[in-house]
Amino acid sequence: MLDHGAIRLRRPFMGCEFELVLCGRDRCHLVDAATEAFDEIAKLERQMSVFIPTSEICCLNANASRESVRVEPRLYELLARTRVLAEETEAAFDVTSGALVRLWNSSDGRLPSPDQIAQALESVGFSGIQLCDEEHTIRYTRPGIELNLGAVGKGYAVDRTVELLAERGVSNALVSAGSSTVYAMGTPPEDDSWAIGISDPRGNGERLTTVRLRDEALSVSGSHERFVEIEGRKYGHIIDPRTGWPANGPLLACAIALDATTSDALSTAFFTLGIDGTLDYCKSPREADFLIVLQAEPDEELKIVCSHKFKSVEVMTYE
Ligand code: AMP
Ligand code: MG
Repeated sequence: MLDHGAIRLRRPFMGCEFELVLCGRDRCHLVDAATEAFDEIAKLERQMSVFIPTSEICCLNANASRESVRVEPRLYELLARTRVLAEETEAAFDVTSGALVRLWNSSDGRLPSPDQIAQALESVGFSGIQLCDEEHTIRYTRPGIELNLGAVGKGYAVDRTVELLAERGVSNALVSAGSSTVYAMGTPPEDDSWAIGISDPRGNGERLTTVRLRDEALSVSGSHERFVEIEGRKYGHIIDPRTGWPANGPLLACAIALDATTSDALSTAFFTLGIDGTLDYCKSPREADFLIVLQAEPDEELKIVCSHKFKSVEVMTYE
């Protein structure tokens, strides 16, 4: 139990710790709502994970190049949304990158060969996927296509949790998926917005900045925590689907959007696009904000470039 009757509960899903901070007077009701929310997240993990062989995504990957596969309506909706996000980000975020992601994850200390990368690249892109809106079916038109929702699944699970909590009458809450995505629902007790800290990507335990959110989501993508080490070099887990190589991106990319599915997809896209591509993306009017942290050389000061939601100045340095 926190101050003012809010409760905080945590459970592990999708390789991270989901946390719910729920505000309200009726503790039993909040605990029931949290229990239901965790059951829902568990269901979503069983549906979307590429690590669970019986998941709907694995079944799709196993069968959709031979026949049209009917997909659960909400999952279909998500996949249709990821196609739009791939188009809008010029495929910097692209859930059809599954074969590439798997190739780099299984590199086992050796760089993938140019042939392996070229072959995996051939399977990437929504041009190889037919979505049928009437039937909610999906068909792969090229062999080797693998969907992987690693860059958007946590955000989607956060959105579904927020939806469930709202249906249960909870209107002020903080829903987070590890340090990757958080949705700030309403306000905390006695404040007009939630204060969310962004950690320094150099892992020194310090806070880089704080943003204030109300009915918005924030996602963070970086490669400092998840990478493979090959021949003494670190290769991050975010792959540029346009080159087939790990994005040689900034230290950190953050996105704020009205929903967590979008912020999660966009933080991955911004990481891949880097500063110039992100500025280009934001030239069209978008309901999204960004913060990108760059460091030219290890031990040099950080450069932060951000849009207005992240407050302060547009470009700043941080020692
Ligand atoms: P995130 O931490 O949200 O940026 O997501 C990164 C994860 O998404 C990786 O661990 C991969 O599983 C997958 N992924 C990597 N690169 C991409 C990409 N460019 N587009 C979509 N998914 C990706
Ligand atoms: Mg993401």
